[in-house]
Amino acid sequence: MKIQLAEHMGFCFGVKRAIDLAQENANDHTGKIYTLGPLIHNPQVVSRLSRQGIAVAENIDAINQGTVIIRSHGVGPEVYRRAEAKGLTIVDATCPHVKKAQQAAARLAASGYQVIILGDADHPEVKSIIAWAGSDPIVIGSEEQAAELPVFPKLGVVAQTTFSIELFDCILAVLQTKCQEIQIDRTICTATDMRQQTARKLAGQVDVMVVVGGKNSANTTHLADLCRQTGVKTYHIETASELKQHWFEGARQVGITAGASTPQWIIEEVYTTMQQMEQDDRLKRLEPGMLIQGTVVDVRQDEVFVDV
Ligand code: SF4
Repeated sequence: MKIQLAEHMGFCFGVKRAIDLAQENANDHTGKIYTLGPLIHNPQVVSRLSRQGIAVAENIDAINQGTVIIRSHGVGPEVYRRAEAKGLTIVDATCPHVKKAQQAAARLAASGYQVIILGDADHPEVKSIIAWAGSDPIVIGSEEQAAELPVFPKLGVVAQTTFSIELFDCILAVLQTKCQEIQIDRTICTATDMRQQTARKLAGQVDVMVVVGGKNSANTTHLADLCRQTGVKTYHIETASELKQHWFEGARQVGITAGASTPQWIIEEVYTTMQQMEQDDRLKRLEPGMLIQGTVVDVRQDEVFVDV
C-alpha cells in the first residue's frame, strides 16, 4: 500500500498566524487570556491551547479583564469598541484576507452600494463581514437565491474567503442582470482553493482517501465531500486513533489530505499510524517458508524470524 500526501494541506497562513499569535501571548501575558469562540475548528488544538492557559469565551460579555484574542474569522466593529471600553488588551488575529473582505464590504456600503455577500450566513467569518457591511447586507449562496433578488441600482459583491471560485462566477452572472451598476471584490482566498484542487486530484489517483481535521471544521468537511464526489472511498477523521485497518484491505494506493485548521503533528501521527498498519498487515500475510528479498521467513505466532 503506497501512502500519498496531498500537495497542499493542513494549516493555512491565517490559521498558523492566529496560533502563533496566541502562543506568543500565552508566554508574554500574566493575566487571563481568552479567545472569542474556539481559535480554530480543531478540538485537539483548542485543548492544547487550554493547557497553555488560553480559555474560550463565548462572547465579549463573558470577559471582564485580561487579554482577548480575536480569531482569524474576525469580528465586527462593535466587539472592538466593547473590548476597548472594558480595558481589555486586544490581540487581533483576524486573517488579513478576511480583513480585506470586511474593508471591501464597509467601503462598498459607505459608497451607497447594496452589499451582497456570497457565503454561508451562519459562518462566523460571514457574520464578521456582515457587521462591517452597512445596515442591510444580503447573504446568498446559490444562483437560485441570486435569481430571486429584485433589481438594485448599485450592487457591491464580496465573498466569504472560502467560497468556491466556480460558484462565485456562476452567481455573478445572475447578479449582473439584477442591477445597473456592479462593483466586484473577489475576496476569495487561494489557500482553500489549492487544498480543494489538490485533494480532488489525489482522490482521482488512489483507492482510499483519508481526510484529517475537526468534525466541526466546514473546510475539512467540504474537502471530504469533494473527495467522495470523485467516487473514491473517503474517511473523515480527527485523529489517528479513529483509523481502522480494514478500511485499507485490498487498497494499493491511499491518499491523505487535511483541512486548513489541522496541525502538522496530527497529520504526522495519521501518516505514521497508517505506515505501521501497512507493516502489520504485511507481516500478517507472511507464511512459513515464504521468500522475502532472498531470505527465508519463519513465522511463529506473532513473531517473525528472518533467516540471514
Ligand atoms: Fe485566511 Fe485563507 Fe486561511 Fe481563511 S483559509 S484563515 S482566509 S489564509
